[in-house]
Order: sequence, then C-alpha cells, then structure tokens
Amino acid sequence: MTAGYKILHKKQRLRAAIFGAGTISRKELQKKTGLNYRSVIAYAEELKHQGLIAENTQENPRGGRSSIHYRSCSDCIYCIAVQLYRNNVTLTAADINSNIFHAAELVIPPEAGITDMLRQILGALDTLKKSFPDCTLAGIELCRFPYGRSGDYYEGIRELHMTLRQQYRFPVGLHTSYDLILFQMARNFDLKERLVLLAPGDDIYLSMVENREINGDMEQYLHRFRHYQLSMKSQEKCYCGKQRCVKNLLTQAAQLSRYNHYAGIDRPYASLSEGLHYLCTQALKNERAAVRILEECGELTAEAMYFLKKDLQADHVLLYFKDAVVNRKMHEAYERISGEKLPEFSAFGVTRSDVQSASVRIALSRIIP
Ligand SMILES: [Zn+2]
Repeated sequence: MTAGYKILHKKQRLRAAIFGAGTISRKELQKKTGLNYRSVIAYAEELKHQGLIAENTQENPRGGRSSIHYRSCSDCIYCIAVQLYRNNVTLTAADINSNIFHAAELVIPPEAGITDMLRQILGALDTLKKSFPDCTLAGIELCRFPYGRSGDYYEGIRELHMTLRQQYRFPVGLHTSYDLILFQMARNFDLKERLVLLAPGDDIYLSMVENREINGDMEQYLHRFRHYQLSMKSQEKCYCGKQRCVKNLLTQAAQLSRYNHYAGIDRPYASLSEGLHYLCTQALKNERAAVRILEECGELTAEAMYFLKKDLQADHVLLYFKDAVVNRKMHEAYERISGEKLPEFSAFGVTRSDVQSASVRIALSRIIP
C-alpha cells in the first residue's frame, strides 16, 4: 500500500464516519476513526472546503467549553459518470444512494476534432452543475469503451481526464468499460481475490481486479498475450510470423473471415458488429458453418482462459461474450481441459446502461467505500 493510498484511505474513513453519523463531535470522531487530533482537523477542513460537510459549535449546557461538531451534507452530494461509446457521450448524475436523477447524451459529429469534443463535454458538465445549484459535485468517473473506436475521441477522453483533474479537488477516475464491469462484479459478489476478464472484440482486451482494485497496468502483458499460441491454425499468418496467435483467432474479424471460408462465401460486412450479429442469427437458424464458428470460439476462449488462469495466477477467470452458444461451449471445454467446473457467472454480457451505473458507483465508492 503506497503512502498516498494510506492517506486516501484515512480520509475515506473520516468521511464515512461523518456521513454515517449525520452529526458527530470532533471528540467522538477521533475515537471512532482512530485518527489523531491533527489529522481529524486537517481532513475535516478539506471536506468542508469540498462542501461535503459543515462545521458548527455547540455550547456546553453545563457552561464548560463549547464543542465542535461536524454535520454531513451527504443528502445533497452527487457524482457524475461520463461515458464514451464510439462517438456518443453519455453524462449521468447519481446521488449518494446511486439513484440516477439526470442523464444526457451528446453525439459528437464525425468531423469534430478533440478540442471540439472537449468543449462540448465541458459545456455539458457546466450546464449539469448549474441545474443543481444546491447540490455538491463530489466525484467524476470517465469511462471509455476500447472497441468500436471512432476518430480520436478515445484519446480525447484522456485529455479530458487531465483537464478535470486540474479543475477539481476530488479524485477523477478514468477506466475502460471492461475494468468497470469487472470491478462492479467483484463488489457485487464480494470477491477479493484476483479476477481476470477476457473480452474479445475488434481486438483482444484483458482486465484485472484484485482486492477490489483495478489493475490499470495490463498493456504490456496484453501485448504478449495477443500472440499466445492456441491449438488451432488461423486463416492468415500473424505479422509475428506465427499462425496460432490469439489475436488472429479470437477477434471478430478473424471469426468472420473463418466463417466466410467454412460457408464457402465471400460476404462483405458493413461493420464487425453487423457481421457478428449475422453470424449469431445464422447459428440460431442452425446453419452449420455458423454453429461451427461459435463452438470453435467457445473452445478457443476456454483454452485462452485456462492459460490466463495459470499464467496470471488468477483465482477466477471470466469471459465477456454475449452469445449463448459460445458461452455454453466455453464452460464445457474449460471443464474438459482443466478438470474444473467454472461458476455460472464466468461468462456473461452486459448493456451500456450497466456500464453507466457501474461508473457512477465507482465514483460514489470513493466517498463511501
Ligand atoms: Zn502473432
């Protein structure tokens, strides 16, 4: 645990104690949190400045020294989640009980540059804040979907992160949708162990959460993992010179190209998501080539997941995939390969609004851990 994290943890403890009590004296607060007098004063001062608590002096009825009390302002605190999916930006505001009371959507025009996008988002944030003048904004979480990227907007959110961090005193988070989903899952199931999520899409993506902390440093590992060799040969040779790389077997493009090959067709696809939708629909109609692709995908993801479980010494390994055939086959294959049965929740898909509510919850969880 770093020193910075320890301090953050102490501050959160103090805040949670005041919010939990409603009103609490400085003396009681010291007893409850185990923090020393100076820390209590310093952290409380910060919370007062942020508008999260108020301070008042209560006279001693017996005529002795008056005492300082802190009062929670949690009734009017809220957090905002900003989510980028392709060129759509959604802003959601939720109160301390996770009730969403405001949502707005911006569609960034395709010709807009990063500066224009930032101006629009900052403007929308300002409008939102002005609409609730009696409430205190206490946290912002930015979330971006790594797949289906549009223009430079994905990178633009990183710039927004830096701007907001300079602008506000509270922590502003930046995570990907898959990190947030996995984080939320760890909270919901109360899992403190090491969890790894494999999310194949237009590329291959991995998330890791351990002890309820997101590991934001998976990039290097992911770079190697994309070239891990599976048991099947891909249609095309990877640029690394090998033919069984994860990235050439599990991405949507790889599956569609294999499907066309098996079906003996040359079907063009307007987009990867259109292609995947077509593939799953064909499988529902029991078309042989389509079923074969999805079953193979289940088998291959099981191989990849078993490798990840061992290589990353994960306690749980999960798959993000929305198709039922893939998920069923993955469960079967995983059990055959490893001799272990995966829990039911190991393969799943979620919606954009699930990600949105996970985003506001992570922002709120910084206030009340
Ligand atoms: Zn490769």
